Amino acid sequence: MVERVWALVPAGGRGQRFGTAQAKQYLPLLDRPVLAHAMEPFLMEGRISGLQLVLPGTDLETGAWHAMVEPVSGRFLPPVMGGAERVDSVRLGLEALLAQGALPQDWVLVHDAARPCLRREDLYRLLDALPCCPQGALLAVPLADTLKRGEQDRVVGTVDRAGLWRALTPQAFPIGSLLEAITEAQSQGLSVTDEASALEQRGWRPRLVLGHSDNIKVTFPEDLDLAAAILAARKSS
Ligand code: C5P
Repeated sequence: MVERVWALVPAGGRGQRFGTAQAKQYLPLLDRPVLAHAMEPFLMEGRISGLQLVLPGTDLETGAWHAMVEPVSGRFLPPVMGGAERVDSVRLGLEALLAQGALPQDWVLVHDAARPCLRREDLYRLLDALPCCPQGALLAVPLADTLKRGEQDRVVGTVDRAGLWRALTPQAFPIGSLLEAITEAQSQGLSVTDEASALEQRGWRPRLVLGHSDNIKVTFPEDLDLAAAILAARKSS
């Protein structure tokens, strides 16, 4: 049987580092909220069976997201409530996918709501790689900058960047394996900062699929201007 592929977009954060009253995923970026840009490549892609959105609990209750996020296709599944940390939101999203008919062996592509500039070509490259990646795969880019270790504001060393990559999203894993790995890591009190790290703790070696560094995560206010410039340049080219 051919496995299906689902998308999971954790948007359950409040984005405290961003510093605005409204969570960063709802802020306007050119013509639409950040979140709408993040979901678009998945909603437009025929190989994606459905998209599970995870929202902060209070936003789900008020239904305020309806006005901000216009579902553009039947692939949009009813959103569910997130948790305290990103990993909790991802776990709740995986459980919701299984409850809605996804199978444990199906693939899930987890993509941050705060990444509005994913290129379609990068999504295709990741999807095309899946048949050759039984241990999962993620978009990533090799590190370009020299890395310093700091103590307060002093350099105390230079970190060898050979072999270092920046992990981006989407990250793709079989739903059942990812859920088991997250549950196990959480029960052991281990930190899970991305999906790959949960599986790495079980000995998996996910495939690094080359992405583009313009797949930025909107974290600070100036990132929003950068995201707008990236999208505008793409539109005009
Ligand atoms: O805060 P940060 O930028 O690292 O969050 C990455 C992604 O995880 C964002 O899309 C954010 O909305 C999501 N998140 C979540 N639930 C949380 C915290 C973050 O879904 N409790």
